[in-house]
Amino acid sequence: MNTFKIRGGLGDSAVANTNVKLQDNLYLATNSQWLEKVKIPADRPLMDSFVELDTKIRKQILKDFDNFAFNKKKLPDLDNLDKAITLYKLTLDFDKRNADSAQPIKPDLQKLLSLSRFSDFNQNLAQLIKDAFSLPLYFYVDADMRNTSQNSLYFASPNSFLPDASAYKDPSSEELLNTFEKQSAKLLTLAGLSSEDSKQIAANAVRFDKKLAKHKKSQEEINDFASMYNAYSTQQFASSFKFLDIEQLLNSIFSKVPEKIIVIEPNYLKHINELVNPENFEELKSWILVKFVNSSADYLSEEFQKAAFPYKQAVEGVRELPSTEKQAYRVANRVFAEVIGIYYAQSYFGSTAKANVEQMINKMLETYKQRLQNNSWLSESTKNEALKKLDHITLKIGYPDKISDVYNDIQVSANKSLYENISAANKTWVQYSFNELYKPVDRTLWGPDAPANLINAFYDPTKNDITFPAAILQKPFYSSDNTLSENLGGIGAVIAHEITHAFDPNGSKFDEFGNIRNWWSEQDYKKFTELSQAEIELFDGIICGGLKTNGKLTVGENVADLGGLTVAIETAKKENGNLQEVFQTWAKIWRGKMMPQFRKSIIAYDSHAPSELRSNVPAQCIDDFYQTFNIQPTDGMWLDPEKRVHIW
Ligand SMILES: [Zn+2]
Repeated sequence: MNTFKIRGGLGDSAVANTNVKLQDNLYLATNSQWLEKVKIPADRPLMDSFVELDTKIRKQILKDFDNFAFNKKKLPDLDNLDKAITLYKLTLDFDKRNADSAQPIKPDLQKLLSLSRFSDFNQNLAQLIKDAFSLPLYFYVDADMRNTSQNSLYFASPNSFLPDASAYKDPSSEELLNTFEKQSAKLLTLAGLSSEDSKQIAANAVRFDKKLAKHKKSQEEINDFASMYNAYSTQQFASSFKFLDIEQLLNSIFSKVPEKIIVIEPNYLKHINELVNPENFEELKSWILVKFVNSSADYLSEEFQKAAFPYKQAVEGVRELPSTEKQAYRVANRVFAEVIGIYYAQSYFGSTAKANVEQMINKMLETYKQRLQNNSWLSESTKNEALKKLDHITLKIGYPDKISDVYNDIQVSANKSLYENISAANKTWVQYSFNELYKPVDRTLWGPDAPANLINAFYDPTKNDITFPAAILQKPFYSSDNTLSENLGGIGAVIAHEITHAFDPNGSKFDEFGNIRNWWSEQDYKKFTELSQAEIELFDGIICGGLKTNGKLTVGENVADLGGLTVAIETAKKENGNLQEVFQTWAKIWRGKMMPQFRKSIIAYDSHAPSELRSNVPAQCIDDFYQTFNIQPTDGMWLDPEKRVHIW
């Protein structure tokens, strides 16, 4: 018999085909009509389930913000929401922003321009860090990954100009860097520098950035969190810098100099003296200036915004700047994420949804537990450790009981420019983060990256918790109008996806408390590595949208998707559910259409596989899929049994 092994289904799943049958391509059969109809908004790089929901939520909140900002409705009694509204209004005020032009950034620009030699940089470094400028040295405070009840100081490399270190090896990136260089020169000219100086600075900055990127980790390397943990004594760390007085620096930042520093990228530290040295000063300063003008442009005049747009257009394929209202919404969210999240949850998230989703999470955890107990490839000792870890997973559903104190410290003044307010907020964040160093970790906080109005879900390996912000707990992921099977294929599979992150190649290196600890027997870990390798090979090189996927870059997410769908199907079977509905809802939540530039970027640097493949490949690995839809070896969705990967 002629057996097929088409990974990802028949044809290129990024190309709509309303005639395809489900047995040949689950994703296209489910979504092609939608794909043919839907348009990508001009100010977005893509349209998908997440963007659809985000648009709905933004409209809800924007309407309220407009009412509050222009006194059509009384502001609710919620701490710091008034500040978010003031910031929203300041962002809307383009008359003032255009009239101010470069004026708001002049003092900070002058601060940078007046660094005339390397010793100035060295002496002012502590202040530059406190002022939240982007620098080639990046310090931050976070839970210590070997003892997550305490905080530690981390040292990392900064973001490079291109989205990922690996991009610098791709010859086609040269064009992107050219676009960025031209854009930066234009911004510097708008800021008041001569055209000649601006060009020189932009060129210097790109030269420096290329050197810096050589020693940075790529996203593929960053995905291994445990490898970030490289503890140095402060003395050892300080002696790595030939040209900077690090002890003095730490002394001026912290009340007490920490005893150790965790270096995320030892290779970057090893090469730091080639980058940060007196001979390189002009390039170094240029790089800081270029970072500064690019990050400020969003808060200045229309002219600045337009000048800062070409690079984003080139990387993401967006065609227009967002409307003034959308910008104002984004800016308010950038600074007051958690406050706006609470506002959203209190206004639009019901306690019934919370209770239903909690019930769903418990169902998924129960199935997970049974699957671990029945697991055939783990020894008893590893199995017990895995069960212990599963038992300890903390649930965060809807919105947090309390949010970070930092919002009380952030001040917004209607009499100051938008830029000044943003800059002050950034400084407050830096100070707040550094102040956390000697405080215990507060595990109840959700943080600004998981506000309740964000459509996403998370697993944090250092806390061993899963977070489901209120925003994702609705259609198409979840609805009380849906059948149980539809909800299982939506939010149920997403829940199990997050749980599986506790046991993916990255999360598996952390224990039940979120500490790095090896809880595996050697034999079991070897088997797990083999299974993960099979998952890498399963995805590697599949063509989607004409581009090849990277199996290694996406392995953690792919293992999570496989676990997510497997556990959702298993739960549906226990509940006599409709497996067709589970698979089809799963395929539906991954519907998406994106600009080619954006596809190129995410396929190169995103840890998630293209959504078309997230729909199809895990389904191909589940034996029930074949019975559910009567899939035959000659069908496009067929994968030979020995090619199907089963992990959790
Ligand atoms: Zn994930």
